Amino acid sequence: SELNETEIQSILEDMITTHKAKCCTGKVADYIPELGKANENQLGISICTVQGQLIEAGDVDSPITLQSISKVITLALALMDQGEQKVFEKIGMEPTGDPFNSIVKLETISPNKPLNPMINAGAIAVTSLIKGADVEEKLERILSFIRKLSGNSKITYNKKMARSEEETANLNRALAFFMKEHGVIEGEVDHILELYFKHCAIEGCCKDLARIGAVLANNGKDLQTGETIIPLHIARICKTFMVTCGMYNASGEFAIRVGIPAKSGVSGGILAALPFKLGLGVIGPALDERGNSIAGVALLEEMSQRWNFSIF
Ligand code: GLU
Repeated sequence: SELNETEIQSILEDMITTHKAKCCTGKVADYIPELGKANENQLGISICTVQGQLIEAGDVDSPITLQSISKVITLALALMDQGEQKVFEKIGMEPTGDPFNSIVKLETISPNKPLNPMINAGAIAVTSLIKGADVEEKLERILSFIRKLSGNSKITYNKKMARSEEETANLNRALAFFMKEHGVIEGEVDHILELYFKHCAIEGCCKDLARIGAVLANNGKDLQTGETIIPLHIARICKTFMVTCGMYNASGEFAIRVGIPAKSGVSGGILAALPFKLGLGVIGPALDERGNSIAGVALLEEMSQRWNFSIF
């Protein structure tokens, strides 16, 4: 049923005020210099129903780069491009207790296949599977896919952020070259990384995240036209990875406390998809020690309790 917009909005505004206080206990990611410039006091939420109704509260206007949130989108596109079999020949389906940029399991687990597509190694391997003649064409395909999912034709990537990441990406380079050596990825490593940095630097604001989440919640179908943007089984794979691996090493705790398929990024964004009901977009750049938006997670937890959002 249609939500009573003004009522919900004022509840959300109150929740934002409460949880905003937690921003100061978190820390903005600064391992990429350009990311360190984020506003650590920002907290905003957008809700988009599968009917397309939008409700927003807090600081929703300044965009963030998607960072790891883009991993869900490139996974969907790679699965559409190559099929399940090819993708999961290269990348596993299991969560890992290691940090997102860890290299350790790549070497110790045979056959050197990244554990899942939500950690950097797996996501870089996914990026290598996107179809296109060159980096430019592949990036254009990712961008037009995101524009379609979000209904926002203006979405593009932040060049400064991509450059800043590329200048500091020693670990990602190490992961990629390791995978190249072991045949997990094919093609020019530098080109794959260039595409990876650029799709991590794609910018969106709260409502873009919420709208993409709503399409996933709507089983991959466009909210207005009902057209299939992501096939059902692929939307389902994406949401399942969001539950098992979407919130870094806090995915288990998040599943218990919030219970909504979600993916976060080091920029402090969270994209969540409540099946058949809503998409949620949260922006709060101050992070907790596991790399999730500190106030954003608290906000989602309160919302989930209040409105009984858990899928479990
Ligand atoms: N661009 C980031 C990296 O690869 C993404 C990290 C993240 O959001 O988890 O380091």
